[in-house]
Amino acid sequence: MTLPETAKIPFGGDYNPEQWPEQVWDDDYRLFDAARIDTLTLGVFDWALLQPAEDVYDFTLLDQIVERASAEGRAICLATGTGAHPAWLARAHPEVTRVDFEGRRHRFGQRHNSCPSSPVVRRLSAELARRIARRYAGNPSIIAWHIGNEFGGACYCDRCAEGFRDWLRAKYTTLEALNAAWYTTFWSHTFTAWEEIEPPSALTEHWRGPDHTAFQGITLDYLRFMSDAMLACFLGEKAALRESSVEVPVTTNFMGMYRPIDYHRWAAHLDFASWDNYPPDDCSQARMALTHDLMRGLNGGQPFWLMEQTPSVTACRDVNPLKRPGVLRLWSWQAVAHGADAVLFFQMRASRGACEKYHGAVIGHAGRSDTRVFREVAELGEELDRLGGATLGARTPARVAVLFDWDSWWALEISDGPSRLLRYQQIVLSYYQALWEAAVDVDVVGVTADLSRYDVVVAPALHLLKGDLPERLEAVARRGGSVVTTFLSGRVDEHDQAFLMDVPGPLGQLMGVRVDEWDAREPEYANPVLLETPGARLQVDSMLIFELVIPQGAETVGTYQADFYAGTPAVTRNAFGAGHGWYVGAGLDQAGVTWVVRRVLESHELVGPYADVPGLETATRVTSEGQRLLFLLNHNNGPVDCTAHRAGVDLLSGAHIECGQPMRLDARGVMVLRQSPGGTDNQIHPYG
Ligand SMILES: [Zn+2]
Repeated sequence: MTLPETAKIPFGGDYNPEQWPEQVWDDDYRLFDAARIDTLTLGVFDWALLQPAEDVYDFTLLDQIVERASAEGRAICLATGTGAHPAWLARAHPEVTRVDFEGRRHRFGQRHNSCPSSPVVRRLSAELARRIARRYAGNPSIIAWHIGNEFGGACYCDRCAEGFRDWLRAKYTTLEALNAAWYTTFWSHTFTAWEEIEPPSALTEHWRGPDHTAFQGITLDYLRFMSDAMLACFLGEKAALRESSVEVPVTTNFMGMYRPIDYHRWAAHLDFASWDNYPPDDCSQARMALTHDLMRGLNGGQPFWLMEQTPSVTACRDVNPLKRPGVLRLWSWQAVAHGADAVLFFQMRASRGACEKYHGAVIGHAGRSDTRVFREVAELGEELDRLGGATLGARTPARVAVLFDWDSWWALEISDGPSRLLRYQQIVLSYYQALWEAAVDVDVVGVTADLSRYDVVVAPALHLLKGDLPERLEAVARRGGSVVTTFLSGRVDEHDQAFLMDVPGPLGQLMGVRVDEWDAREPEYANPVLLETPGARLQVDSMLIFELVIPQGAETVGTYQADFYAGTPAVTRNAFGAGHGWYVGAGLDQAGVTWVVRRVLESHELVGPYADVPGLETATRVTSEGQRLLFLLNHNNGPVDCTAHRAGVDLLSGAHIECGQPMRLDARGVMVLRQSPGGTDNQIHPYG
């Protein structure tokens, strides 16, 4: 793991001067100076430009672009240009385009249209990366390599079918093992030759779309294979870059909670993680925080780059709301608060045509510098300049972890029963939201992460259990920690086969419960749940899923209030070792989830000092010198008042804050408090 070496937070983003005559470049750099833009991502979609025919490479224009950026003193994140394949490639090799889920061979068009198993695509994309590295590796302005763009999608062509069979041979060795893993005795599916195996698509195992499969085991393996096939494309380009560039860090831009790719399977292959933050709406503060934490968790808590965000609007949604004044700054600082060591935009100058011409840009079609958006970008640039390197490399001292697992995500959502309405992201988000409101620092980590540093581990909908995770969760509780899990956890093994034991399977001892039956209802139906511990009592609703929990040593914390299971447990807590296992068997509403999470945090004295200040988010980073930086982010449209819990200095305004002093943050205001040493703070926990 290596991040690009920079003296401050890189500020800038995607820049496509190849779309413009050179006199426009002069205007661009004048405006970049005005906005203190110091970092440019170049050449993401340059394949057709750099290779106009299979045996012709032409770097004339990219040479000029890179030379100009270098001469202007900008740092460069140089792409390999393979974000979209050229038209001649699809014509010369029709098999490079994808076959979709319905079995239709695509023709040239769009982007992300290459079959990831295509030897031609792999060979030519790696060759382009090889030539780019050979040509530009010596340029000291290049601080990072950017492979492809937003890898994603799926292909169901014959090449992918062959690749899938190879992948399966490597995984299972024998057909007997494969048949056992996929439970093929069911519906007469026993495979007697590898060639009989088909990708699970609308033509084979699926009906009513990608989530409805007759064989979860086959579909799960295809999802894993597709994620690995795209990773192989990435690795091919990375290896080609490394032939001439040994040191410059390599990344590709992820898309946060993106279901088709298991970023945990990818993470170790990137030198640093980066991602593109395009939230679906303008009220997703907790969702963005969760996603930042997920990206930071990919590589053991290392900082990441915010590779893309729009300065104003996106264009890809049906309705594209404008970022209100101050939101560009606030959301940029939110990223930094959660571990971003770069703040980059898509895009520097708006495209004149095609589907992103209305996508927000630092510089609009008129090229003005007196727009609100440009002014806000420039003000942020000035602020980041002033901050310098104060936050670079700083880590998050979290004592709470949320487990996020692509296998469980896939298994839960391709399951037939008990409910198609349960969505993994929403379940995880509801638990994260409760933590976010408690103003506690959280790591979002994969299921193989080291859990030994956490006091609280929250594992919502941990449907698929693999490896030694049950033992490691038990170890958290045994030494005094708390483990929280929910309905539909501990149900299936890595092949999506039910455990032949009481639900929740290998989590049963830790949770001290048994579940024999479960009920699922339409979303209009709610079963009230009375939550009760000494000193706290609240009645909430539960929806969608209702497990009938039979305590096997656990105490009851919440009880159903309706139906034939009225009076039986919905939420339990089990003493295990020196700690506890909390089991939430019902789809509690947000108030219910928040109540449970708050009780857990209180038992560890982990509720943050700014909990429950409405709309005020906090996040902590600790520098390598041990300095604590507390980020305060006001997501409200109006000012918010709070009281400083420790003395410090606001790195943005220079203001000195005394402990106990009233603080007012303006609407969408931000403070970065470098806190004075000493004092007590429940969240203090030096990293490592
Ligand atoms: Zn394919």
